[in-house]
Amino acid sequence: MKRSRLPLATAALAVLGLVLAAGFAPVQAQAQAKGPLTVAESSNYAATSRHADVLIFVREMQKLSPLLRVETYFRSFEGRDVPLLIVGNPLPASPFDARSLKKPVIYIQANIHAGEVEGKEAVLMLVRDILLDPKLPYLDKLVLVICPIFNADGNDKINPANRRQQPGPEQGVGIRTSGQNYDLNRDAIKAESIEVQGLLESVLNRWDPILLVDCHTTDGAWHEQTVTYSWPINPNGDLTLLEFQRSKFFPEMEKIMKDKYKTLGLGYGGFRDARAPEKGWETLDPQPRYITNYIGLRNRLGILIENYVHADFKTRVAGNYACLRAILDYCAANAEPLAKMIADADARTVARGLAPAAKDAFAVEFELKALPNPITVLGFEMDTTNAAGGRFPQTKPSDRKHAYTIPYFADFVPKRTVPFPAGYLIPAAAASAEVVHKLVQHGLVVERLVQPATLEVEGFRMSEIKGAERLYQGHRTNTVKGAPVATKQEFAAGSIFVTTAQPLGSLAAYLLEPESDDGLITWNYFDKDLASGGFGGPPPGAAPPAGAPGAPGAPPAAANTQGLAAGQGAAAVQGAAGGQSAAVTGGGAGAQGGQGGQAAAVAPAGAPAGGQRGGGGSTSFPIYKLMKPATLVKDIVR
Ligand SMILES: [Zn+2]
Repeated sequence: MKRSRLPLATAALAVLGLVLAAGFAPVQAQAQAKGPLTVAESSNYAATSRHADVLIFVREMQKLSPLLRVETYFRSFEGRDVPLLIVGNPLPASPFDARSLKKPVIYIQANIHAGEVEGKEAVLMLVRDILLDPKLPYLDKLVLVICPIFNADGNDKINPANRRQQPGPEQGVGIRTSGQNYDLNRDAIKAESIEVQGLLESVLNRWDPILLVDCHTTDGAWHEQTVTYSWPINPNGDLTLLEFQRSKFFPEMEKIMKDKYKTLGLGYGGFRDARAPEKGWETLDPQPRYITNYIGLRNRLGILIENYVHADFKTRVAGNYACLRAILDYCAANAEPLAKMIADADARTVARGLAPAAKDAFAVEFELKALPNPITVLGFEMDTTNAAGGRFPQTKPSDRKHAYTIPYFADFVPKRTVPFPAGYLIPAAAASAEVVHKLVQHGLVVERLVQPATLEVEGFRMSEIKGAERLYQGHRTNTVKGAPVATKQEFAAGSIFVTTAQPLGSLAAYLLEPESDDGLITWNYFDKDLASGGFGGPPPGAAPPAGAPGAPGAPPAAANTQGLAAGQGAAAVQGAAGGQSAAVTGGGAGAQGGQGGQAAAVAPAGAPAGGQRGGGGSTSFPIYKLMKPATLVKDIVR
């Protein structure tokens, strides 16, 4: 799913791959006596399905079973209709039907990174086997919503030159990025891509699944386990759900995989130091731009599946399939308690927003700690190929097996927190249509004041805003520094209020908290307000500040949802190739502006305006926190 932070072996060891395949023979998907074959199966795992093949397979299944409906999820940038499969018995006509059946919805998506095609093949097999094998009981307890080919545009750029680090399929796979050149698994917060907007609108806000499963394939470490996985790891989500997933759900899922499907699983990660595996095993980053972290902020369960890249294609597909079966086994056996757990988390979140307590904090910085229990990685002794030195000496695995029982760094804990509020206020002058639309798009309840209100609020005294030097997903992401300041502020009619007393209250905070490491400020949604020194905009007659939307060399505003297709494409492609957060150095006039890589010192609140500050209030930051609920006269935008 992502490149390892460490330079692991790059040489593909075909011999070792054979050893793995021979030594580990997970139970393959059950032999199919009936139903269509996937392209992977019919080609003996030399090829993977194109978009058209997926549609043909799905149509064949529709002829064979009345328990499958296919909706058009969205039309991709390049014009492909992406199918969304609804599977149920009885087949619900709508999400309302599913709720009245009292069957939780499980959502599985595959192929978000379209070079990582194992999930696409596995979910098609899964749908076929569930629909045609009457002994599989999942539909008695669950409704399944499945997208086999989330990134259809990337998928159909199949080429044997893609992902050459993995053994097969020999006829090639697609590419990582979407038709708009987005990395879709970095888009969950800014939601600029057609695909992620579809996910929010058609699945998360509509079907409201209790669990989202996102299928990927690794790029890094060598080990014997054929499937790895992660839970939502951001601690700003519901901690009861987080703890339940990592301490109960995942161990039980792992046991089912091993006992019933003869498939070994492992928590997702990579060696902190490939030359010294004993230093530990480390998970991915915690930001909710990753879809499986994002889902945790919505009080829903999430599973990131990462198939083991160095296994052969057939083994990878079988591993993904076994993991999905184990997940459904667990969910079907625990459907009622899982649904109750989700409802309880929603109720806790609403209660917190109604009366935030001192303990209710929002983490703006994290510290990565080891979990209480170590993890056992069934790995290999590593050989260093250029022992002479260099900062990153090359290593490669030997054929000598070695079980490393080592610390698992997968516990992100708050390092610095700010108080959790009852809600966030955006003054009318800063409440752009783009900001309001984005909040609504995430499914938040957004309200608008219909009468002015003067309120005791917490403002933010910004001392510095810094745009990233390098473009990342078409953005120069912001970081801000400053301190809270208590203030009395008049909010005009038209100002926006977002309560945290709603099931998506944690998500509201992540999007709107001034120092959030992955919020709307991060993604440039308020740049025009921040760059001009105030949400009132620049003084009359002033030129737009460098770096502000409309200024020469301005970075793409977040509101520009046209994507990276024009001009910014190279940035995304480079980013995909490198797998790193920063891919292309910024250039041009934009780099001179406040958003363009240099810290733009902003006078503290109360300082002379100096002709740059608008707003005219005690502070110019465009978001205020209401710490205790207040009576407001307002109506609902959505
Ligand atoms: Zn991936």
